[in-house]
Amino acid sequence: MRNPKIKTFYTDKQVCFDNIAETSASKSPLKPFLLIKRLKKNGYIKMLDIEEKFEPISKKDFLIAHTKEYIENVYSKKGNYASNMLPWSQNLVNSLPYTTGALYQAKKYALLNPETVCFAPVSGMHHAQPERGMGFCTFSGQVISAIKIYQELGKVCAYFDLDGHYGNSIEDTRKFNPLVEEAIPEGCNINPDGDNEAYIAEFQEGLAYVKDLVLQDKVHYVVFAHGADSHKEDDLGNQCDTAHWVRCAELFATWVNEVSALLGKPLPVVLALFGGYRKDYYEAVLDLHTKSLIACSNIICGNQFEDTLIVPNKQK
Ligand SMILES: [Zn+2]
Repeated sequence: MRNPKIKTFYTDKQVCFDNIAETSASKSPLKPFLLIKRLKKNGYIKMLDIEEKFEPISKKDFLIAHTKEYIENVYSKKGNYASNMLPWSQNLVNSLPYTTGALYQAKKYALLNPETVCFAPVSGMHHAQPERGMGFCTFSGQVISAIKIYQELGKVCAYFDLDGHYGNSIEDTRKFNPLVEEAIPEGCNINPDGDNEAYIAEFQEGLAYVKDLVLQDKVHYVVFAHGADSHKEDDLGNQCDTAHWVRCAELFATWVNEVSALLGKPLPVVLALFGGYRKDYYEAVLDLHTKSLIACSNIICGNQFEDTLIVPNKQK
């Protein structure tokens, strides 16, 4: 039996409030706050059980995936600190151990309490490289959290990265830290592409591949990062219309139930946000993420939340 609530690792400390709404090309550093605020307003917050008190990772944990020089550059606004393409602020720096911390804590909780689906409402984790940031990502939170979990619990991860963009952090860090191969084996960064049905077909191939590894005890938990920029109306996306985009969440959730039944125990599951960009109506990004949460809450956790959210087309 699954816990009906999704355990959510959210604190305002993982949010950057400074200079994001006004001057940043990406609202992602503010997105966790905006999403929680909207869920409170529309009532879907009932899906979640929010854990506000959790430890961040330490500054030295960033060394798992980055050079000391790059970390110092980010912390002290030197050198290539702006390679993440985000406006620098002390608030942004302070939030970073909490964004990776939320993902790490969600993974740990899911592994220790597999009946509970966990959620880290964070993005900005899958483009950074060892020596620099990239594409609104400062540090490789997905790699750092996976290696920490592997070192502490010996557990292996697969990512279903349904962001509209290829998550290069994992592959780009394999040489820098050989533990990547242990924590996230080759082929376990599932990142579909293509138009609607082709996208879904690629995703299903990934699901089948990881299913075999889970049943062979070679993968122990999965992260579903349903980036809203794989939606056709997103400013930076072009893959799925709303029906196909939601279908991906339903396929994932149904797959989780199927694999759990075959395992005879609940497969540990972590949900995350990743990208999403709409200049005309940012609420569309938040509502897509909510649709994905509703599908997972209903199918995996056995709830019956009605999805009444409408994602409008982009205003030309
Ligand atoms: Zn993206």
